[in-house]
Amino acid sequence: MRPLSLYIHVPFCTRRCSYCSFYHVPKERERERAFVDALVDEIAVAFAEIGPVSLRTVFVGGGTPTVLERHEWERVLAAIAPFFPHEGVEEFTVEMNPEDVDARVVDFLRGLGVNRASLGIQSMDAVGQKVLKRCEPEVNERAIDIVRDRFDNVSFDVLLGVPKTTVDDLFATLRGLLAKAPNHLSVYGLEPGGDMGDEVERFFRAVDPDRVADEYLEACSILAGAGYHHYEVSNFARPGFESRHNRVYWDGDDYLGVGPAAHSSIGGERFANAPSIDAYVARWGREHLAARLRDAGGDERLESAMLALRTDRGIAREACETRAVEDIIDDGLAIVEKGRIRLTDRGYLVLNDVVLRLVSKTPC
Ligand code: SF4
Repeated sequence: MRPLSLYIHVPFCTRRCSYCSFYHVPKERERERAFVDALVDEIAVAFAEIGPVSLRTVFVGGGTPTVLERHEWERVLAAIAPFFPHEGVEEFTVEMNPEDVDARVVDFLRGLGVNRASLGIQSMDAVGQKVLKRCEPEVNERAIDIVRDRFDNVSFDVLLGVPKTTVDDLFATLRGLLAKAPNHLSVYGLEPGGDMGDEVERFFRAVDPDRVADEYLEACSILAGAGYHHYEVSNFARPGFESRHNRVYWDGDDYLGVGPAAHSSIGGERFANAPSIDAYVARWGREHLAARLRDAGGDERLESAMLALRTDRGIAREACETRAVEDIIDDGLAIVEKGRIRLTDRGYLVLNDVVLRLVSKTPC
């Protein structure tokens, strides 16, 4: 049976974080109900069309997946469970907003088979959290303790370059989180783009890109020292805890995305759902894959090099035998390991440039 990964996008949020340009809509019970109806329909239509599959990984992200009520989770689970292999999926992640984490919700999700919690911490600093319009640090602490007690596999997100905070504040955040022994950390700087309102634009005007870069290099060094494997630009894991779901994206394997604004890549063809909850509820949930927006697709060679160089797997050295490779290595942006070119932390900071330098001159 064809292996497949599934991403479920739940686009509802209680309020807008000051940096958010991801597709989301305000939480509203009536719309959530209609969304779940459409989601269950979409799952049925898409799986019928793809044919026999065995789900490898499931990732429920948002937005805020924890807005869904129990009976709605059960409906979604009933829709996807027929595609689980006997031994269960390898990884079943739910993104959780610290404010919504309570022991009963987390126990319920575990009971459904969720085996990995991804917690959007962003910062443990009170000023930072205020700037981001996120919760109080105490709420973060409480959520961390609840998920840490209940899951063997826990990931925290940390944001770099938060305005009005300092590098020392980031160090304190990382120290505090490392004390909780997460299996995985995503540490990232955001770039402007997507749906930018005035407030988001103001936020990005206050972000200093040089500080983001400095904090990134510091974070890489702290996490390496703490035994975390830097396996992708923004992702760090204890050995054996790299995100299997995200690997599917980077390795170019098949995945189906359901929900508004979700993307899919199946058999080399890419699709996207419209970023509109109203269109989704009215129409998209019931349409065939072929009727979705087709990603125009860009330069395949460039995209595949970009995906490969995001990760520690890199690309084959012999496939890129050019001066550009030597220059990039001389610049300290890449190393060669076991015959493959892999970017250094400094190289990850200029990933796009490095890929262009490599790919424009070589037949990788
Ligand atoms: S950053 Fe995430 S939680 Fe915050 S508003 Fe955007 S989608 Fe919602």
